[in-house]
Amino acid sequence: MSPIADRLLMGPGPSNPYPEVATALAAPVIGHLDPEFLGVLDDTCDRLRTAFATANALTLPLSGTGSAGMEAAFVNLVRPGDPVVVGVNGLFGERMAETAARVGAQVVRVEAPWGQPLDPGQLLEAHRSPALIALVHAETSTGVANDVASVAAGRGDALLVVDTVTSLGGMAVEVDGWGADIAYSCSQKCLGAPPGLAPITVSERARARLVERPSSWYLDLSLIAGYVEAGAGRAYHHTAPVTMVGALHGALGALMEEGVAASCERHRRCGTLLQDGLVDLGLELFAPEAHRLAQLTTVVVPRDIPGGRSEADVRMQLLTEYDIEIGGGAGQLAGQVWRIGCMGHTARPANVMALLGALGEVLGR
Ligand SMILES: *Cc1c(COP(=O)(O)O)cnc(C)c1O
Repeated sequence: MSPIADRLLMGPGPSNPYPEVATALAAPVIGHLDPEFLGVLDDTCDRLRTAFATANALTLPLSGTGSAGMEAAFVNLVRPGDPVVVGVNGLFGERMAETAARVGAQVVRVEAPWGQPLDPGQLLEAHRSPALIALVHAETSTGVANDVASVAAGRGDALLVVDTVTSLGGMAVEVDGWGADIAYSCSQKCLGAPPGLAPITVSERARARLVERPSSWYLDLSLIAGYVEAGAGRAYHHTAPVTMVGALHGALGALMEEGVAASCERHRRCGTLLQDGLVDLGLELFAPEAHRLAQLTTVVVPRDIPGGRSEADVRMQLLTEYDIEIGGGAGQLAGQVWRIGCMGHTARPANVMALLGALGEVLGR
């Protein structure tokens, strides 16, 4: 196994478990209205329905990264002055609040300290009749899971927007089971495809309340629906990123073959293996156990790094000497934690053991 191929998100070679992705990336580019491509697009939407556990007709890979999905949700559902309740317990909840404010929402923030989960009761009681309640399922900045099901169960007439950017494919996402109105994700985290697309799904309830002429033309879901849903009567909206859709199609094919539940279980097992190993190295985990993500582990940076080196030095050594990339802290946790992603095809015991061995060496433990 070549460590470089492992380190690259989508390196070719025998260790790449998603050969369909490499094939799609290397394939000659065909036109975005070519029937062959349209077949791949339709199939991608079907696979996304399975991944999101939904029957929503409007389910598609939006052009742009996960943040485009976030922006599309607010731009299409929020009218100026609408009361919008946003859960904020990390960088991405903060981004949701900012995005909602920019489209004119009257944002009601419900906060929890970074590292703690949101309180569903507080979210439900924050406003008498919110137009919308929004929260992040898996907070990638802190490694904490939020309880979407409890918020969904009590949301009443409010629309519910769920950020599943770090959860889709890595932990149970039940769009119809929850009754979520918009859920969006990205291609590059637990789905293990290259970055560039934002899978998104929209309920019939949300479709009935879509803003008529949203301030973004590009992210106007009604216009996009005319392209993805209309079969033979498709109306050109914007050029679909053909190669990226093919790559996502391949990654979703691997997910369908493994099974969504099996993929979530693999992520869970790797997370446990990693977290137990980190504790055995004498390191402190940042997120409380009951609310800890498996696919993104936050570790408190130890005070006794040998040689007086910084936490960034440790990450650089892991990258240059061991071909393993871990993340630094984000936002207010910068310099305080490491964030170790174990997502998509990288969530494998061999990778976990390689990291634990390398980290033990670098930290002299
Ligand atoms: C990564 C991430 C985003 C942003 O996705 P991009 O693909 O970087 O635009 C949004 N929300 C969460 C929870 C994330 O982890």
